[in-house]
Amino acid sequence: MSRLSKSRIMSSLQCLRRVHLEVNRPELARYSKQTEAAFALGHEVGDIAVRLYGGDKGTYVDYAGGNLAPALAQTRELMTSLFRAPVFEATLQHEGVLVREDVLLPVAAEGQESWRIVEVKASTKLKPEHIHDCAVQAWVHRESGYPLSAIALAHIDNSFIYRGDGNYEGLLLENDLTAQVFDLLPGVPLWVEKAREAIAGPLPEVAVGAHCTKPYACPFLHACWPVRGNGGPEYPVSGLGGSRKQLGLWVMNGYRDIREVPAAAITNETQSRIHRVTRAGRAELLPGARAFVEQLPFPRFYLDFETIGPPVPFWAGTRPYQALPIQYSCHVERAPDVMEHAEFLDLSGEPPMRALAESLIRALDTDGPVLMYTSYERSVIEGLAAMFPELAASLQGITARLVDLAPVTRANYYHPDMLGSWSIKAVLPTIAPDMDYALLEGIQEGTGASAAYLEAIHPETTPARKESLRAELLEYCRHDTEAMVRLVQFFAES
Ligand code: SF4
Repeated sequence: MSRLSKSRIMSSLQCLRRVHLEVNRPELARYSKQTEAAFALGHEVGDIAVRLYGGDKGTYVDYAGGNLAPALAQTRELMTSLFRAPVFEATLQHEGVLVREDVLLPVAAEGQESWRIVEVKASTKLKPEHIHDCAVQAWVHRESGYPLSAIALAHIDNSFIYRGDGNYEGLLLENDLTAQVFDLLPGVPLWVEKAREAIAGPLPEVAVGAHCTKPYACPFLHACWPVRGNGGPEYPVSGLGGSRKQLGLWVMNGYRDIREVPAAAITNETQSRIHRVTRAGRAELLPGARAFVEQLPFPRFYLDFETIGPPVPFWAGTRPYQALPIQYSCHVERAPDVMEHAEFLDLSGEPPMRALAESLIRALDTDGPVLMYTSYERSVIEGLAAMFPELAASLQGITARLVDLAPVTRANYYHPDMLGSWSIKAVLPTIAPDMDYALLEGIQEGTGASAAYLEAIHPETTPARKESLRAELLEYCRHDTEAMVRLVQFFAES
């Protein structure tokens, strides 16, 4: 009997085809950087949970290296010991289903010794799939022969403010799920049976659709959906955007390339435009782009921030997941073809926000449009103004000058190779192929920049590595603002 982890049962609830692929064709999986980052975040929150739930009195069951037998034996020993104490990552298995219980607390219920499970998530709210997740844990726990009187899910409270004293009391919010989970328990054996059948049998025929991205993005999207390359369509139908459900229906009807979808089947305006331009085979650039650029006075500022948003805040006065700017790049076009550059990056590990805000105010002067791509920069500057009221007037002066290039681009430009996306990373290779983000040797996207910063400020990072990360961070952020410069030039010359 092959072993099933709790996550595989959750995968099977999303899609039986997915759980088959996970077990039988794991080499096909492509986990995104976001998935890796989310996994790392989960671990970090888990460390805090151990502290909050009495880590000094309890025992952590190590499963390093995937050696299961010692973890199962240690858990059994701890759960049957006369000395009852919290257990972290208690490892239990029933009928080949393996679970690791984040927090297991000894309780007394109706005069009997029992246990309470707390599942810990890095999310900021309770989600429906969390209840199923807890049900699998509770089922294995009880079927393993241990009493269970309650089960809760703890998630991050994003209104928590860290005081800088190492005290994370209040970071986690508990939701008691005992009643909902106990109601689901009779159905769990059926979930397990279905998952097992899907793994053992041939690849289940499951149509693609909304379930491919909800509740989790499936790592096999490229295996089930038409994708570019390797004999796939040039313009995969998913590039039409819109609901995955509708896209899935088109795929089911045999349409793999955007150009194959009949125009009459498309009712959405954006999809119609993508379809029309893709069929025409050449970019559409409307006069509005040039007209927009021509009315921008000089000096023009092109601004981009990099931020971090740690789930467990480590600087005093900050909240979980708060977007904290750690770097900016600004190209300054004083006059046509007269370009300067300003930037800020502090890798001391001290909170850089105040110095960054002051540097920004100096770099941006008081006049001239400040160009950004999407409104993210606005929210970051507003966040700085809230953090430093004495700088608020100057920062508000900057927000009043912000000009978003994204809606202008969206309204006036589309190239078939953008495959339905107006992100700067999708637009740039179509207007400046030499600046494709994929050509960057180091950091290529925002998640990578955030990870690089956190690595750079880590006390154990060597000076040589830190300098290498500094160079990568500066190059990546500068690339972002240069991309906007090229976009504006492209529009001006159109
Ligand atoms: S991409 Fe969709 S159909 Fe394919 S395995 Fe994943 S969820 Fe199932």
